Amino acid sequence: MNTPDTVADFPVCQCCPRRLLPLEVKHGRLVCRPCEARLESELDEVAELWQRLPALLKPGTPGKDNADAPRVPGPTGSAAPCNLAVLSLLGGGATDPLLAEEDAWRRELRKTRHCPLTPRRGGQDATLKGVLGWLRVNLHWACHAYPDVDDLDRSLRRLLGEMRGLVSGDQRRREELEPGCPMPARGHTDGSEAPKCGGGLSYDPRKTVIRCDTCHRAYGPTEWDQLGAAAGLITLPFTLPAA
Ligand SMILES: [Zn+2]
Ligand SMILES: [Zn+2]
Repeated sequence: MNTPDTVADFPVCQCCPRRLLPLEVKHGRLVCRPCEARLESELDEVAELWQRLPALLKPGTPGKDNADAPRVPGPTGSAAPCNLAVLSLLGGGATDPLLAEEDAWRRELRKTRHCPLTPRRGGQDATLKGVLGWLRVNLHWACHAYPDVDDLDRSLRRLLGEMRGLVSGDQRRREELEPGCPMPARGHTDGSEAPKCGGGLSYDPRKTVIRCDTCHRAYGPTEWDQLGAAAGLITLPFTLPAA
């Protein structure tokens, strides 16, 4: 890869707003080193949380007991016999998005070398273990050669959000916000001529942060009024702190 002349021309990491360092560009990186380390630990976290899911299958047994939750009206027999969200994760909801990434990475690898199709590994336990292991082994390659590692980043964020919520009993969900991200597009720091990012913004109540799925910027509560002002009309599903 050609090394750009000035730092301002350096590409931005695929998974965060950071501009790549000269050495990272020299080594052909598309994803910065800290993001690679973060993705690696997120893959590990999926494996850890997975182990805790079976114990949550029975309703009323999440990490924090949901005994306070309103009861489903109707005879008790109408309640689901198990936690359907957990069941769905255990039945393919966790492995499917990861397998989609493995398939895509393997397709990219096949462009330059022999790489077999994603194997059938058996049950969900074996499949999850296999796909996490494969992605982990190939993560370094992907961060240098695969143009869409941010897809894995998004999949992991969604999956971990759901798994953490089930394990902790914190069921607050992410909310999509309108309109799109008003900040300068990826690679542009500022300036009124810079094109707007326009990515999808979502609010994560557990981390009290608003994130853009395209430029990957994240905003804490002290920056919400700035974000709202930039958007002109952003609708926030919560009260802005008094300025
Ligand atoms: Zn990064
Ligand atoms: Zn954005």
